Amino acid sequence: MAFLIKNVDLLSMDGTESIVGDTNIYIEGDSIIHIGNLRTDLEVDRVIDGRNKLAMPGLINAHTHIGMSLLRNYADDLPLHKWLTEKIWPVEDKLNGEDIYWGSLLSMVEMIESGTTTFCDMYFFMDEVAKGVMESGMRAVLTRGLIEEPDNPNRKLDETRELFKNWNGKGNNRIKVMVAPHAPYTCSSDYLIRVMDLADELDTGIHIHLSETKKELEDSIKLHGKSPIRYVNDLGLFDFHTIAAHCVHVDDEDIEIMAKKSVYPVNNPGSNLKLASGFAPVDKMLKNKIPVSLGTDGSSSNNNLNMFEEINLAAIVNKAVNMDAISVPAYSALEMGTLNGAKALDWEGEIGSIEVGKKADIILIDMDKPHLYPRHNLISALSYSAQGSDVDTVIIDGRIIMEKREIKTLDVEKIKFMAERQARDLIDR
Ligand SMILES: [Zn+2]
Repeated sequence: MAFLIKNVDLLSMDGTESIVGDTNIYIEGDSIIHIGNLRTDLEVDRVIDGRNKLAMPGLINAHTHIGMSLLRNYADDLPLHKWLTEKIWPVEDKLNGEDIYWGSLLSMVEMIESGTTTFCDMYFFMDEVAKGVMESGMRAVLTRGLIEEPDNPNRKLDETRELFKNWNGKGNNRIKVMVAPHAPYTCSSDYLIRVMDLADELDTGIHIHLSETKKELEDSIKLHGKSPIRYVNDLGLFDFHTIAAHCVHVDDEDIEIMAKKSVYPVNNPGSNLKLASGFAPVDKMLKNKIPVSLGTDGSSSNNNLNMFEEINLAAIVNKAVNMDAISVPAYSALEMGTLNGAKALDWEGEIGSIEVGKKADIILIDMDKPHLYPRHNLISALSYSAQGSDVDTVIIDGRIIMEKREIKTLDVEKIKFMAERQARDLIDR
């Protein structure tokens, strides 16, 4: 039995840079089975009225730390190093599993309500995040952040191995587990080699922060005589599928390495702007055919998980930085938030575009909003005018997770209450 989204406008993100007007999408099980004309031979048990709606692939937040929502608006207006060492890390030391559970659910509510269907997370107590993924119905790459503990180098690697064993492939393959060394400045080369051994053993990818700040670049040159990108490449990291958050301070030689190797840079414009980290050369990377994706980073450095905001920032910030109004056009920015995210998460065959045979991860935008009229160009409207709150319906893995802005899988009021309670308790602890 199938269900049908009827009379909907469609932006498929399959490479054709145009909208198909008034079409129909049939979904059966977890997959899209037909797009186009109405079919009398397909039995449907449910019809969603798509009039005045636009269907597009669910957004993919390719780098975040969702448990950090409990620290939203706790420490702001500080440079990254000071922010991390004096404010964030001391509180993070006190976090417990219950904090992560409620903080992650709060983030999932926020992501679903703003059209994100898949995210890639790096944090700890990742079992709690996995439980939330199972409950919410979202899709996720889960990674246990690894900051080296020289006295106990095995502990977090063992936790990653356990996480993989317990959760990889769970929820009808909605969960993937990868290995996540936090950054080259928090992991020694010996430790990074052990991390790679683990990725090899589990046959999975790597998620890391790379070249986020000028200080990181300068320290790397002092310590290793080369940029972070060259340093980890020489260690062999890019022989693995690598999701590389930030890549802000990269030069042409770094970009050449990234283009050749399986490196998937994630641009986090909101976080980079707020922490004054700088501007990643997104335009240059895209022109070198590197599929740059988008992330929000944690909600304490952004301070929200609204991917429509990141799409808009990616499109407009790069124009200003390059003093070139055609830099990162609207469609490219949308591609960064969808298909390129799927490539980054090694999920391109299944998600990132609306095509027959792919998983049904679809969002419906309510186009009946004043800021979305007139309808000269809907691709521009989505990139430059749309808001996360315009998302009306969210379908993940063929399941309706939100309809008419009502989340079906989670108790939103309870989650907001519990997150606030945990956050207060955490600061007082
Ligand atoms: Zn991050």
